Amino acid sequence: MNRFADRIEQAQLAMGVAGVEAICLSVGSDLPYLTGYRAMALERVTMLIVPREGAPALVVPGLEAARVDVPDGVFSIVGWAETEDPIAIIDAILGDAATVALGDETWSRFLLQLQETNPGRTYRSASDLMSSLRIRKSSGEIDALRRAAQTVDSVVDEMAEVVFSGRSERDVSREIIDRAIANGHDSMDFWIVASGPNGASPHHEPGDRIIEHGDAVVVDFGGTQNGYRSDTTRMFVVGETPYGFDDAFEAVCAAQSSAVEHVRPGVTAASVDAVAREIIADAGYGDLFIHRTGHGIGMDTHEHPYLVEGNDQILKAGMAFSIEPGIYNPGEWGIRIEDIVVVTHDGVERLNRTERRYRVVT
Ligand code: ZN
Ligand code: ZN
Ligand code: ZN
Repeated sequence: MNRFADRIEQAQLAMGVAGVEAICLSVGSDLPYLTGYRAMALERVTMLIVPREGAPALVVPGLEAARVDVPDGVFSIVGWAETEDPIAIIDAILGDAATVALGDETWSRFLLQLQETNPGRTYRSASDLMSSLRIRKSSGEIDALRRAAQTVDSVVDEMAEVVFSGRSERDVSREIIDRAIANGHDSMDFWIVASGPNGASPHHEPGDRIIEHGDAVVVDFGGTQNGYRSDTTRMFVVGETPYGFDDAFEAVCAAQSSAVEHVRPGVTAASVDAVAREIIADAGYGDLFIHRTGHGIGMDTHEHPYLVEGNDQILKAGMAFSIEPGIYNPGEWGIRIEDIVVVTHDGVERLNRTERRYRVVT
């Protein structure tokens, strides 16, 4: 059985358990996960309708139909012409389905139109159902994540040899983008270069600030390779570390490696966060660790499971996520170290393998 037929069958089994008669998926990664086809995020509606039994139908703008490759006929294509009403077509395919699960990234406009067309039908979120399928990666998916991680690791090692001082953050970020593409990424999703005080903002957008001697620079970037995402953070220090940096760096390093070592099947997502948070708090920086410890990764950069206090989800083999504790000292500097890891049958595999110690650059 091809992997898409297998995933559709898993989705249909999950629908039975969830008491849902159909799933509707539009833009976002749920659709390519089940079909291999990614819809363009346009005003024209694309919608996969997965019934509890039988083959799904992909309602797609007629002009897009040629882009759809149907693996072994696992779903049918219903093209709609510019003058047709696609909502009526989707409604007819849904038929008497009373409870329909809708993908997270469906435009609200389409949901509102569907509700207006058939007010008796109940819509709910397909979020839990689809994430329960996507959260545990197959060996093929883990291979793809591993290769994506290797690409950004090569870039980190290359960046340790380049000059940072006298250049703008934007200039350094462009070099990272170019090197990631040259090393095998198909596209880039984000590129954070946060120097000096800008490092204290975890999602800082690289700007005009000129990097100077004594800056600590947070470099956090990721992209897509064969449909799967990368995400890594390493620290670069220009010449020498700023005041107060070294002790905090030791705390982040210890928190990050202890959290990685804690990962194995059977522990909760929250417990991984707690391991990292306790080390940082004990070192006196608890108030400066202002985000969760990590997020799942796969076809999206941020997906389940989230490593955050309160998430009692049990980790299982095949789950992939980041471990990225940080300390953010407003007005001074920021520190973060991030690796992607995968839960194995008896422990953990770290996909990012570059040296975690900060690199001293000129
Ligand atoms: Zn982030
Ligand atoms: Zn990151
Ligand atoms: Zn991340």
